[in-house]
Amino acid sequence: MHILVANDDGILAPGLRALAMAMREFGSVTVFGPEENQSANGHRKTISKPLRVNEVHLDDSLTAYSADGSPADCVALAVLGIVKKPIDLVVSGINRGANMGQDLTYSGTVAAAFEATIQRKPAIAFSLDNHSLNADYSGAAEIAKRVVQTVINNGLPPMTLLNVNVPNLAYPDIKGFKITREGMRQYRDRLDERFDPVGRPYYWIGGDVPLGDITVEGTDIWAVHNGYTSITPIQLDLTAHTLIDSMREWHF
Ligand code: MN
Repeated sequence: MHILVANDDGILAPGLRALAMAMREFGSVTVFGPEENQSANGHRKTISKPLRVNEVHLDDSLTAYSADGSPADCVALAVLGIVKKPIDLVVSGINRGANMGQDLTYSGTVAAAFEATIQRKPAIAFSLDNHSLNADYSGAAEIAKRVVQTVINNGLPPMTLLNVNVPNLAYPDIKGFKITREGMRQYRDRLDERFDPVGRPYYWIGGDVPLGDITVEGTDIWAVHNGYTSITPIQLDLTAHTLIDSMREWHF
């Protein structure tokens, strides 16, 4: 078993290191992460500039590379030939902060898993519900081992991936696993206008950490709020299948 470990928080992120070290018990591990933090970059593909790859020393037991591209670029670079040994599984994370509900459309962590799936590799994205810079990833790393072993045992269908969110609890306090669906995020973004030294406006889009609807049972947000690890199966087919039949009656 050869596992590729990617992320969006950058090659030096502690969550990436924790995931890579945990994966060693399944076989060989190669790490491929972006040089810098690429959080909320989504599934960006670099096509208008060349990419540079550097070998990085993270641990004597790991082969690691970084690139000056997006998380998805890193996975593509690895699978398309930078990494010579065939890759059996791609894991992404452990992200600093949860990726739930509509975060999935922004998340570079999930995008790395999407890219793996497009490259026909089974993939799992891992996120820890803790935004702090000194978050403890040890419990989430144990969870990652359980999830990876279960996926190795059961396999994943093509064009699907697993999005895993771990509550911010010590490992013994995590209540178990819930198979979930995407919940509803409540973003609190606002536009912050400032002015540069010559008086021209510039803008920040930002605000407080998003909330989520914790009342709807069965969602990722509900599960993590209640102390469970959330596992959401995600498919790349974004079609709104339930609309197809009724839209055929719309007479375009
Ligand atoms: Mn991130």
